[in-house]
Amino acid sequence: MSKKIKIQLTIDPELCIACGVCHALVPEAYTYDEKTDKYTPTPEYKQGVFVSPKQLEQIKETIDSCPVGAIKLKILETAEDEPSNAPGNQD
Ligand code: SF4
Repeated sequence: MSKKIKIQLTIDPELCIACGVCHALVPEAYTYDEKTDKYTPTPEYKQGVFVSPKQLEQIKETIDSCPVGAIKLKILETAEDEPSNAPGNQD
């Protein structure tokens, strides 16, 4: 039984100093944008992506590690990642 959490990340481009710490910690969630010379969340993390509780902890670590507090996390929804045993499941 594992839980999945749908999260969305934003980085304030006004604050980001492009130190690369977030990317070094969780490369799949952050990418360098040559146009702006800043880091941004990768497209899937920008739009919203399901992560495991462990991945969420790693993301939170990047937020705590960002020297300028530029990363914001939004929890969109949580879901149990289990075979369907919920009452009222229509499929
Ligand atoms: S850790 Fe913060 S300041 Fe450094 S690149 Fe990531 S968002 Fe930008």
